[in-house]
Amino acid sequence: MSSQPKLHVLFNRQEIEATVSRLAAEISQDYHDRHPLLIGVLKGSFMLMADLIRHLDFPLEVDFIGLSSYGKDRQTSGKVKVVHELSTPIKGREVLVIDDIVDTGLTVSFLLDYLRKKKPASLKLCALTDKPSRRRVPVTIDYLGFTVPNKFIVGYGLDWDEKFRNLPDICFLEGED
Ligand code: 5GP
Ligand code: MG
Repeated sequence: MSSQPKLHVLFNRQEIEATVSRLAAEISQDYHDRHPLLIGVLKGSFMLMADLIRHLDFPLEVDFIGLSSYGKDRQTSGKVKVVHELSTPIKGREVLVIDDIVDTGLTVSFLLDYLRKKKPASLKLCALTDKPSRRRVPVTIDYLGFTVPNKFIVGYGLDWDEKFRNLPDICFLEGED
């Protein structure tokens, strides 16, 4: 890849805003009286988390967990480890995981198993994007923003080699999938 990859907008900021509002409405309906703990998967979910919770008008808590993820080569090894731990006990809590993308599904499957062992009262998944064409393990996404094609996407929190997280639109890199 050249040092200046070409970006194409897949979902613009208005479409993202509408989708975040729709996700917030779905989540509000299910969680408004449950004092949930929202767990963002670092780093890709930080922008969705920030926008989403501004739409949630009920008591909730926020935590983050860091997992090892793709490096520059964008290959998934299937090996996942926790590199930044939760700061909140989750036993008995209503837990909603907020993730950026479900690709092969290996990372979030590992995470859901890891969290389930800590005995939350409930455990659900909200994902900004889903790339079902590359799935290797089945994953139930309870609240889904966008289904994306088999392309490498960046922006709105998602990175390529730590770059492009700051783009306000969800874009794909030309020629990369
Ligand atoms: P998995 O393949 O385990 O479902 O995805 C693991 C991680 O790979 C995701 O959480 C995300 O960090 C990264 N990833 C997968 N597909 C993409 C993509 O299209 N764009 C970006 N930026 N990251 C991706
Ligand atoms: Mg992720």
